Amino acid sequence: MNKRWLNRVYFLLMNIGLCSALFSSPLLAADQPSVDAIFAEIESGVAITPADLTQKIEYLKQQISADDTSHYFRLQSVLCWNHDPTDEKQRAKAIELANTHLASDKINQVSEIMTDIKLCRAWFYQHQGRVELALEEYNQVVGDAYQLESPKLIADARSVRGAMYSFQGNFAQALEDFITAQHLYDSLELEYWSLYNLAELATSYRRFGDPLTAIKYYQQLEEKFIELGDINSATGILSDMAIALEELGEYEQALEKYQRAHKYWTEQGSILGSSTIAVNMTGTLLKLNRIDEAKTYLAEASQSIKQDQEAFYSFMKLFEAQVHLMQGVPAQALIAIDDAKAAFSRVKNTRGMAQLLLLESQTFSTQQDWKQAFSSLEQYLVLHNELDAKLQSNRTTEMRTRFNTKRIETENERLVERQRIKEHELEIMRQNKLLQYAVLILAFIIILNISFFAFKQAQKSKLLEVLAMTDHLTQLPNRRHTYATGEKQFLVKPPSLAIILFDADNFKSVNDNYGHDIGDKALIELARISKAQMRKSDLVGRVGGEEFLIILPETTLEQATEIAERLVNSTAKSDLSDIAANFGMTISAGVAVQENDKSFSDLLQRADKALYQAKSEGRNRTVSNTGSTETETRQA
Ligand code: GH3
Ligand code: MG
Ligand code: MG
Repeated sequence: MNKRWLNRVYFLLMNIGLCSALFSSPLLAADQPSVDAIFAEIESGVAITPADLTQKIEYLKQQISADDTSHYFRLQSVLCWNHDPTDEKQRAKAIELANTHLASDKINQVSEIMTDIKLCRAWFYQHQGRVELALEEYNQVVGDAYQLESPKLIADARSVRGAMYSFQGNFAQALEDFITAQHLYDSLELEYWSLYNLAELATSYRRFGDPLTAIKYYQQLEEKFIELGDINSATGILSDMAIALEELGEYEQALEKYQRAHKYWTEQGSILGSSTIAVNMTGTLLKLNRIDEAKTYLAEASQSIKQDQEAFYSFMKLFEAQVHLMQGVPAQALIAIDDAKAAFSRVKNTRGMAQLLLLESQTFSTQQDWKQAFSSLEQYLVLHNELDAKLQSNRTTEMRTRFNTKRIETENERLVERQRIKEHELEIMRQNKLLQYAVLILAFIIILNISFFAFKQAQKSKLLEVLAMTDHLTQLPNRRHTYATGEKQFLVKPPSLAIILFDADNFKSVNDNYGHDIGDKALIELARISKAQMRKSDLVGRVGGEEFLIILPETTLEQATEIAERLVNSTAKSDLSDIAANFGMTISAGVAVQENDKSFSDLLQRADKALYQAKSEGRNRTVSNTGSTETETRQA
């Protein structure tokens, strides 16, 4: 079974955009893309939806003027290829367009594009069934492409010519063309064209009688197309795989793949796609002896496949003949065989023809026309031997080996390259990691610095704060801080604050008799003595030159008076000979506890009053203020 044209048609269907593809690139939205970018996209071989392609072509037509020679003819080339090769009128139009431009006097200015237009014309000749003319032109184009030293053009021309050779059964030439094209497409990094060409190559393998290798490549291709999101191409490969499976005798598996492809094209609304698959399925079902189902698909195919689509038409007729023969109507079979024969001979399909001759011989046998049967068989044998010779030729074998080896080498190279890239990426990642660490460490150092600085600042301000609250001579809380503490304690509920205000007696004479330094030392000593006698919760502050205030929270008048007396006594009894020989000092104290005072200042005033009284009553004593009227004096 052979559907050789299928590949070419499928792949070109995508390019001419008869089938809808998944991609769409909004062209007229936002920024207007450059003319060259659009050409590059179209020429890359990427699948473009018909609507999208039409839009792009319209845009190019608007943008390009006739005197922009190179763009103008590049557009003409796109237009030429954008004809439907399965439609007779379209084919004629494509050839006419090519003829017009190839007659242009500008042909030498844009020789590369013109050669491409010539290739396009030859391709439509081939689809018209004018294969000899097509081959002649292909040969010219290949020669021109080499002269122009254009690798893309050489690859295109040889790929197209290879497909025709392969179809006709000229395997060695086909392989030679495909391998050259493959190499060029790969080195030009034209991914899509490389894949399409590889698909043709795989198909050639199948035709050479090596379906296993073909399936191996098909599987790679299917994966790749799915990866690229090109489902049309992936489905094209699916039917190729089915043909190869059929050749391996795996009819059920083949049928399953055909059914998937048939379903897909039907859903896509591609009549050509679904009906060509229907032709294939007819053949498979006949091999499985499922005649009724075969007839259904044959009917579907014959609705849309007409004589001008010879590649499919020829096989459709062959299967029709087979159905007639199986149903016992050999006369009908012979009519179909004649139709098929004409089609196979026009497209020079030796393999199809051989298959047909075998069927013809069987048909004549059924009719007991032994002479005719023998003649058909003889012709079959000639073709069979011819094909066999081609298959067995050393050249074909050599080419196949060469390609496979080359392919493995390239794969290996690619793996090595991929490995290298991976290692490079790893190295970059490693460097990035190092950099990351460096940044982290740096950030840590900066934070540490800032924290240290902030800590120092805090310490400094704390120190300043302490300094601001401390009397520098005695290191006691100063007047401001002492009053502030007193005011705060005054507000504590229930009111239970006591204070002792004391003052060094006749201190003026200390300074006068001993000097200011001794006076200072005496004040420091007084601070030490008073502080040593107080509780932790009490606060002794220096509120004047030789005047001190003690804040005593939660203290009764009795307790405070006792504390004051103890302080007055111990001061008077202190051995201060360290300061100066025979040095002594006394203090007077005024005590008050919180009663009906409106403010801390009221309380302080009462303590001051008591102190004044202590002074006036002879000093070295304690006076407690017991309210606004009474006072209690205790002499030390
Ligand atoms: P009274 O018993 O009435 O308090 O007599 P007094 O001499 O202590 O009282 P007055 O207020 O007349 O004198 C206080 C003296 O305290 C005056 C000043 O020389 C001395 N004085 C105040 N501050 C300091 C200080 O920081 N160092 C020294 N050495 N003397 C101080
Ligand atoms: Mg004094
Ligand atoms: Mg004083």
